[in-house]
Amino acid sequence: MFCVECGKDGPIYKNGVCIDCYLKTNSFTKGPSIIDITVCPQCSSIKFKNIWTSDLLGEVLRRVVKETFQISRELSNVDINPVCKESKEGADCKIYISGYIEKNEITEEHNLQIRFKKTSCEVCSRRFGGYHEAIIQVRVEERKLTKKEEKNIILLIENQVEYLKSKGNRRLFITDIEKEHGGLDFFISDKGAALLITKKIQIEYGGRIKQSSKNIGMKDSRQIHRITYLIKIPPYKKNDFVEFENDIYQILNMQASKVKMINLLNWEESIFNTKNLQKTKIIGGDEIIKEFILVSQNSKEIQIMHPKSYKISIVRKSKPINFDSEKIKAITYKEKIYLIPKI
Ligand SMILES: [Zn+2]
Ligand SMILES: [Zn+2]
Repeated sequence: MFCVECGKDGPIYKNGVCIDCYLKTNSFTKGPSIIDITVCPQCSSIKFKNIWTSDLLGEVLRRVVKETFQISRELSNVDINPVCKESKEGADCKIYISGYIEKNEITEEHNLQIRFKKTSCEVCSRRFGGYHEAIIQVRVEERKLTKKEEKNIILLIENQVEYLKSKGNRRLFITDIEKEHGGLDFFISDKGAALLITKKIQIEYGGRIKQSSKNIGMKDSRQIHRITYLIKIPPYKKNDFVEFENDIYQILNMQASKVKMINLLNWEESIFNTKNLQKTKIIGGDEIIKEFILVSQNSKEIQIMHPKSYKISIVRKSKPINFDSEKIKAITYKEKIYLIPKI
């Protein structure tokens, strides 16, 4: 058989022409040259089929092209590849659609102009409306939060929010952070997430969580409650050094009502109930740790040198272990040196 196009003698694919001529004379994909896409100007979420998504433009475009382009059924294993130059107003894209006809791979290229239509997504509209379902109140017993604690707690909560958002909670945001009564109040859009975040604070800082709820009105004929999670953290925190009943401890771990501490004299670990730790005196945190230089040691004692004054001290070992590092971590308290175990 002869191809009516090129006259070559060979198998005919369709309509009297060979496959090469068929591919040359036909196009298999067709689509618009301009598409409007709704984008939230605040968070860059994109609306597709009435649902807001935080997926990237390229991924959403793939779905848009699938919906709006005519792609011939002759094409198998279709792959859509958008390459875009984005600006504030929209994007100039090349859309590559490829697939197979028999064993021949073909790729067709389309210019597509994307125009962004800007509308606040439902999450951002709520955020600017001050929407919050829960308040997390962080307080510390007997004193105010220090500047450093404030900074760390804000960071912890912001990181948790980002983490939960990355796990798919799009409706989560912090509406506001306020300093109140020596503590911090966080206004959170999602009450379920607020509880998870409060528990995360508890893991880091200990303390108890108290939950209360307030009726704030009706919505869609349902009562709306706002929940407050109050967490009162103890004045000491993980890794702090404390004096308790004439012994010096380092805090290893904290839970709601239990604290695990290590006695620096013998490196024995014990668990205490927070109720019994009311009279604990806080000596300090990481900042009081000093690195001494190891001079010599035997099974019972260690000779160490102060890094600045070069004063050499002999300290009884807390445990009969051999120190293999040149630097020895220790704290000085009431003129006594306490070796710190590697934790
Ligand atoms: Zn031909
Ligand atoms: Zn938004």
